[in-house]
Amino acid sequence: MSDDIPFDKRFDVSPGAVEEVVPGVRRILCNNPSPFTYRGTVSYIVGRGRVAIIDPGPLDEPHIAALLDAVRGETVTHIFVTHTHHDHSPAAARIKAATGAPVLAEGPHRAARPLNIDETPRLDASNDTDFKPDRALADGEVVTGNGWTLEAIATPGHTANHMAFAFREGNLVFSGDHVMAWSTPVVAPPDGAMSDYMASLEKLRRRSEPIYLPGHGGAVRDAPRFVSAYILHRKAREAAILRHLAKGEADIPSIVRAIYIGLDPRLIKAAGASVLAHLEDLVARGEVATEGPPAVGGSYRLR
Ligand SMILES: [Zn+2]
Repeated sequence: MSDDIPFDKRFDVSPGAVEEVVPGVRRILCNNPSPFTYRGTVSYIVGRGRVAIIDPGPLDEPHIAALLDAVRGETVTHIFVTHTHHDHSPAAARIKAATGAPVLAEGPHRAARPLNIDETPRLDASNDTDFKPDRALADGEVVTGNGWTLEAIATPGHTANHMAFAFREGNLVFSGDHVMAWSTPVVAPPDGAMSDYMASLEKLRRRSEPIYLPGHGGAVRDAPRFVSAYILHRKAREAAILRHLAKGEADIPSIVRAIYIGLDPRLIKAAGASVLAHLEDLVARGEVATEGPPAVGGSYRLR
């Protein structure tokens, strides 16, 4: 299913090592590898002397120490957070406490839609519900630092509050978990929403920056074309779901078995959440029917 996206899984970075990716951008890998985080979370330092940190990462002591070590002798003036998942935002409070820099993000964690009766946030354990930015950023807002300019791009979908940041001097985008070179992100209702996610991809596709630096893995090259492939991939998955439903009514586990061939067993739950995200979108568009609100245990048929 995924060979349509030109994935690039190369990423030879040691946790804790500081490396200049492009002029004016350093990165540090946190040692929190998993099927969702790849080799781990990547934190970025933008500028020199008076710098911004993007995504301080999880509450991981060696990572926090490495990050603070990397900026020793410099002044951290801003802390940006792409979204409120546990692998990106919790260390923001610690970096703020150590540096006095304000935290900037779209807002606190929130679901993409109201919860249905008996529904709990599906990937609850991954949400940083304690997070509160000092300054809430609006879509298109521009923040200027010493030698760097970052433009906030609201990119809801993976989470409702996801933001990417365009680094104007570097002609690149910090894409968080929205677009990554090694994999597509999980889009799981109710925290994520497929319709938002697709609209956010379309928004990025219209931009010209050739390089994205994501929250996990290495740089995305030829980014507009890569984003187009991401969009086609989701459309192909939606078509596969519709083809499966054309054979008759089905539940989510049977759809996952039919369309995710050779899936890592640790990702079955996430795949189910992604299928639910597609079904939620298809129900909203009137193409698929189910009893009540789209649910993980529901049964689905073509309309
Ligand atoms: Zn992440």
